Amino acid sequence: MGVLESFSLNGKVAIVTGASRGLGQAMAIGLAEAGADIVGVSRSTEQQEETKKAVESLGRKYVGIELDLRELDKVGAIVDVAVKEFGTVDILINNAGVIRRAPVIEYSEKDWDEVMDVNLKSVFLLSQKFARYLIENQKKGKIINIASMLSFQGGIYTAAYTVSKHGILGLTRLLANELARYNINVNAIAPGYMVTDNTEALRKDEKRYNEILSRIPMGRWGLPEDLKGAVVFLASEASNYVTGSVIVVDGGWLSR
Ligand code: NAP
Repeated sequence: MGVLESFSLNGKVAIVTGASRGLGQAMAIGLAEAGADIVGVSRSTEQQEETKKAVESLGRKYVGIELDLRELDKVGAIVDVAVKEFGTVDILINNAGVIRRAPVIEYSEKDWDEVMDVNLKSVFLLSQKFARYLIENQKKGKIINIASMLSFQGGIYTAAYTVSKHGILGLTRLLANELARYNINVNAIAPGYMVTDNTEALRKDEKRYNEILSRIPMGRWGLPEDLKGAVVFLASEASNYVTGSVIVVDGGWLSR
């Protein structure tokens, strides 16, 4: 297989959580550009229309699932739907995530639980179900978890988010160790500061926005499209000997 061919996702099926907008939408489109059919997940299929149209315009298929990932007992069914619709599933992108900002001494238990359930517990449960499916069917596969700068740094006002994203790195490494023998690769992508709804509050605060901007060596905030290359690499045969690692896509932020 030539190297360009090894990046192809022709005939592959990818689950992308949080596919309605932001980074999940761009990654779903990137995977479809590389040849994959997509199973998208978010709280409303109506909100996924834009992603669905973009994927279909590339000649790929798109199936939307409406699920609130806080309903933890239903998370595993995502894999069942993908297999029912496409007969198989090869790639899992654990992207959906929420952030709740408050000073740590005021941080509510409700916000803590919501962030941890969406950002970490649902990722554990969905990855477990996906891995079980692959192992039972003797198939290889790829799991890609979306980490953050706050997988490495403490941040401020983001107690649950920071802990959940540190947890994502631990879970990535643990899964990589246990699943390597089954030919399941597990890696993470750590985006820097990206222009999406997730960072709207930060970008509205002109002082914070400029502080962050001035610290980014590449001199600009990231765009969702900036993740396409990394996600296609980790989802494809090109990364077959890469597991337990993190690709940082941050315009140089962590090197500073
Ligand atoms: P976003 O624009 O706010 O999108 C979040 C996505 O997650 C949406 O598709 C949303 O779908 C989905 N989602 C949220 N809660 C959900 C729930 N309970 N059940 C199902 N789906 C849910 O955020 P983003 O910036 O694209 O973030 C995507 C991932 O990247 C997150 O894990 C985030 O932590 C991470 N990240 C972002 C940045 C950044 O700078 N933007 C940096 C580092 C890491 P609906 O709301 O339509 O249901």
